[in-house]
Amino acid sequence: MFSYRHAFHAGSHADILKHLTLIHLVEYLQEKPVALTMVDTHAGAGIYSLTDGFATVSKEADNGIYRLAKYAAEYPVSAGIENYLSHIQAENIDGEIHAYPGSPFILARLLRPQDRLKLFELHPKEIDILRHNIGELKQAKQIDIYKEDSFTRLKGLLPPPSRRGLVLIDPSYEDKQDYRYLETAIEEAMQRFPTGCYAIWYPVLSRRESAALPDRMKKIAASHKRSWLHTELRVENAPKERRLQASGMFIINPPWTLEKQLAESLPILIKALSQGHGAQFLLKSFEA
Ligand code: SAM
Repeated sequence: MFSYRHAFHAGSHADILKHLTLIHLVEYLQEKPVALTMVDTHAGAGIYSLTDGFATVSKEADNGIYRLAKYAAEYPVSAGIENYLSHIQAENIDGEIHAYPGSPFILARLLRPQDRLKLFELHPKEIDILRHNIGELKQAKQIDIYKEDSFTRLKGLLPPPSRRGLVLIDPSYEDKQDYRYLETAIEEAMQRFPTGCYAIWYPVLSRRESAALPDRMKKIAASHKRSWLHTELRVENAPKERRLQASGMFIINPPWTLEKQLAESLPILIKALSQGHGAQFLLKSFEA
C-alpha cells in the first residue's frame, strides 16, 4: 500500500484516454444550468511536473501527451482531442508542455459557480501536495478534500443535492482487493443514485480481476437497467514487456454524445500513440 505515485504515469496514454473522456462527460453534464457535483474518488496530487521529479524517471509522457501534441501540430485531429489538448495547454503558459494536470485540476478548472468538487486521497504525501495545489486555485472554495477511503465513503455523498452528479473512480489497483472494493462501491452508489454518471478507469492486464472488470460492471448496470459504454485503448502488444500497454474506461449512464466523440478520437489516438504492432481500440455500448 502507498507505493503508487501517479507522477510516474502523468501524461501517459492511459491518462489521455481517461481525461479526454472525463472532459466530454463534464461538458455534456454542464449543458444544463443545474448544479453539478463531481466526485474524484482517487485524486492523486492534482498536477504534475513533466520536467523534474518522478515523471522524468518513467518518461511515460514521451509516449503519451508529447506524442499526441506533436501529432496534433502536424495533422488534423478530432474536436474532442483538440479540446483535451487545450485543457493541458491551459496549465502551460508558454506553449511548451511542462506540467500535466491530473483529474482534480481538470475538474476544478471546469467548475461553474454553482458546481462542487469532492476529492478523496489517502496517500500521506499525495494528500499534502494535493491540498497545497488545490489551495492555489481560485476555485478552491468550491472544493472539498477528504483524507478518507473513498471506496467506503462514496455512498455517503450520494445522491448529490441537485441530483446531477459525475463520479470518477480511478484506483491505482496496487492492491488486488481494489477490484472487489470497486465493485462494492459501485453497487452501493447505484442503489443510492442510479441516475448518476459513473466513469471507471482500469488497466488492461492479463490478471483475472482486470479481465473480469467490464463484465462485472455490465452486470451492475443491467441490474439497475442503466445504459453503459465500454472503451479500451491499446497502444502496443508486446506480451513480454511489463509496461502498461492498454487501459479502459467503463461509463454507466453515458451521455449519448460520448460514443460519437470517441469514435472520432480513438482512430486518431491509435495513429498518434501506436508503438510497434498491435495498437487497437474497443468501443461498445448498450442502451437500456
Ligand atoms: N485520478 C488521478 C488523475 O487522473 O490524475 C490519478 C489517481 S491515481 C491512479 C490513484 C490515487 O488513489 C493514488 O494517489 C492513491 O494514493 C489513491 N488511493 C488509493 N486508494 C485509495 C482509497 N481507498 N481512497 C482514496 N484514495 C486512494
